[in-house]
Amino acid sequence: MSHLDPEVAALLAMGEQASEEDRRHLDACTDCAAEVASFARAVVAGRAAGEGEALLTPPDRVWESIRSELSLPDDTAEPAAHPREASVVPARPHVAPRRRRMSRRPVFFVLAGAVAAVVTIVTAVWASGGIVPRPQVISEARLDGFPSWSGAVGEALLERVDGHDRVSVDLDASVPENGYREVWLLTGDASDLVSLGILDGSSGTFDIPDDIDLSKFNVVDISQENVDGDPGHSGDSIVRGTLSAP
Ligand SMILES: [Zn+2]
Repeated sequence: MSHLDPEVAALLAMGEQASEEDRRHLDACTDCAAEVASFARAVVAGRAAGEGEALLTPPDRVWESIRSELSLPDDTAEPAAHPREASVVPARPHVAPRRRRMSRRPVFFVLAGAVAAVVTIVTAVWASGGIVPRPQVISEARLDGFPSWSGAVGEALLERVDGHDRVSVDLDASVPENGYREVWLLTGDASDLVSLGILDGSSGTFDIPDDIDLSKFNVVDISQENVDGDPGHSGDSIVRGTLSAP
């Protein structure tokens, strides 16, 4: 199910007639209904707010959406939130039945006000720990360097977040400019392995596919890989270590 475009949600919040399709989606989707309700509350607050009420900058996706709607080039600067803009918010923006004909600028300023309120709410919930679940550390590993990688060392942390497992790794090694580093899970006897992904820089976090049996795949390995089109392990391990309970 694709959700309502944020701009559409804002228009609905301002009282524009919902299309049959949007109405059906709103009936079915509590997330979007809540978004429209939040926008509506913010629009009321925005209309009530006088001058001197600074607007916050809306999230990137809202600006992306507006930018693509207006066919603006990618490097168009995002308008900075400024108290003066608050006075530009019209008491009641004219919303033409056909969206193509309506003026976009007032929509943006009202939207900015609405988004400011939503961002405030979301930030407050996030800060209270209501949305982002706390990761639970399952096991950890010290990653020891292989002889050909003297001085290399690393750490791995296996965490469970929201029912899913992930591995965070840190690598401290002097690596060559060419090639790339790849993170692997191996079985204890190294008879089987699965790639978790490419390590960009010295640290990264990788989701573990749900079908991986972590009681068997309990070894973390970081390898040096060449750009040779071979998806397999190069055989050139930099560090490796076995996960165990902390
Ligand atoms: Zn939705």
